[in-house]
Amino acid sequence: MDHAAAAASGGLKRVSFRPSRAIRGRRAVPSVDIRRRETPRRRARRTAPLEQLAMDLDAPAPRWRFSRPALRSAHLERIRERLEFVRGFFPELDGITIRVGLAQKRGVLGWGSLDAAHPGVWVRPRRLDAFTIAHEFTHLLQARGLVPRGERACDLWALARSPLLVDAPPGYLRLPGDLARERRLDAHQAALLYRAARSALAARARGERSYLRRFEREVAESPRRPNVRGPSARGPNVRGPNVRGVINRFRALLFPDPRRRA
Ligand SMILES: [Zn+2]
Repeated sequence: MDHAAAAASGGLKRVSFRPSRAIRGRRAVPSVDIRRRETPRRRARRTAPLEQLAMDLDAPAPRWRFSRPALRSAHLERIRERLEFVRGFFPELDGITIRVGLAQKRGVLGWGSLDAAHPGVWVRPRRLDAFTIAHEFTHLLQARGLVPRGERACDLWALARSPLLVDAPPGYLRLPGDLARERRLDAHQAALLYRAARSALAARARGERSYLRRFEREVAESPRRPNVRGPSARGPNVRGPNVRGVINRFRALLFPDPRRRA
């Protein structure tokens, strides 16, 4: 069947054909068209695998992989919401799947993996402070060599990220008692810790090695006012005892390090 007749018979598809180098070397042969019968079987074999491949390449890695206890938790959606909020401040973690488990050990607020190959955080569903999560995410940055190792450094880098994440005091950096005892920090306290953390990082960039102590000193020497959120905003013992302060003192006696994070 010649080309014209084949085209007239229908069911044929025009395909482009480029001769091999050997043929072209012997004499000048331009690109020519040949016509080939298009069968349903051949079409299926050619297109389907490519479409599947394209889908696989485009699919982004899942952002989270929840452990079975986390998936069963009644707090799963709240956990996911809090994690998403904090993760928005950590663009370095884009494209990474983070394992999420529940921290079960008493007295531990959370854990963060220091294994770069297995990024994961463990959280307490009832203690989802933004700062605790920020601290655990900072451990994932330590695992990638983006932040110096150590718990106090982890606290400092987490504080320096954004004042919006500083809703609870750090657990490893030394703070003056009025700040360390607070369960929740107000905006003024958050801004104070954030600014001191930023200036400590700037000092480190200038070569200061004792930047962690510098942070602690700066916070201790800063003028502070009482927390406007808690009962202490009324002033100490003006209208009755500071209930939260009493509870915190008892808690400190019973659990010497209640804010311990890993
Ligand atoms: Zn830690």
